[in-house]
Amino acid sequence: MKIIDLLKKSGVVTSPYPLQPYEVSENFRGKPEYDYSFCIGCAACGIACPPNAISVKIEDKSVVWRYNTGRCIFCGRCEEVCPTGAIKLSDKFELGVNFNKNDLLVQGEMEAQICSKCEKPFTSKRFIKSALNKINSSNMSSKRKKLALSYTQICPDCKRENTSTAMREKDYQRIE
Ligand code: SF4
Ligand code: SF4
Repeated sequence: MKIIDLLKKSGVVTSPYPLQPYEVSENFRGKPEYDYSFCIGCAACGIACPPNAISVKIEDKSVVWRYNTGRCIFCGRCEEVCPTGAIKLSDKFELGVNFNKNDLLVQGEMEAQICSKCEKPFTSKRFIKSALNKINSSNMSSKRKKLALSYTQICPDCKRENTSTAMREKDYQRIE
């Protein structure tokens, strides 16, 4: 009897979900939502994602962004590191799919930037456009700006090659 009295006092503590929608708390970490229009394909989210739920890869002449809900642990790292706000955690938690695992995937494809030296695709055109805007609006000297702008057009391998060539030439001059 004592227990029944106690239970009566505490009231209803269970939720009527799934008969009624479940109200999540303010800082709930649900499924990340991807906004393709803001994505520049920088891959920061893919690098930060602990279980590799996000990948950003160059395929043929495109940069392909992929997210797999099945691997996601809803940690929010992708949202933290995204420089453009293209990925944000939502309050969605009902993530089951009907027999087709492909429904767990989200994908975005962007045109790749081709290296002006070796003609290899190395990043997305959107990323280069964003870098150009940042360089142009910065207050660096015009000489530095020119160098930085020229570096946006070549891939990391060619950049290394250019730097080591320049260093070799400098050493050579110094020896002379
Ligand atoms: S929430 Fe965490 S696990 Fe999920 S995609 Fe973002 S970084 Fe990866
Ligand atoms: S960090 Fe943001 S902008 Fe960069 S690839 Fe991920 S979603 Fe796109």
